[in-house]
Amino acid sequence: MAQVLRAARRGEPVGALLDQLGIDTVPAAEEVDTRSALPTPVDGERRPITGVYVCPKETCTRVVHREADAEVPSCEIHEQALRFSAEG
Ligand SMILES: [Zn+2]
Repeated sequence: MAQVLRAARRGEPVGALLDQLGIDTVPAAEEVDTRSALPTPVDGERRPITGVYVCPKETCTRVVHREADAEVPSCEIHEQALRFSAEG
């Protein structure tokens, strides 16, 4: 087992080795879903989703707040997907 862990830390594929050891590997996507479904522990102030979508050309003042599961909004003037800005 230690050997497998060392291989994993070196970035080598260990899925087959884990299968041989009878260990169920969790698909990466499933792992992410589980994490995102759980409340994220944050030290101090609880932070909402930050960042906004802004005009890719920055020529219009459209600002769209980011929403989970929402499609990327687009600028009607430039007909381009808005650019995400984490600062907003
Ligand atoms: Zn625009």
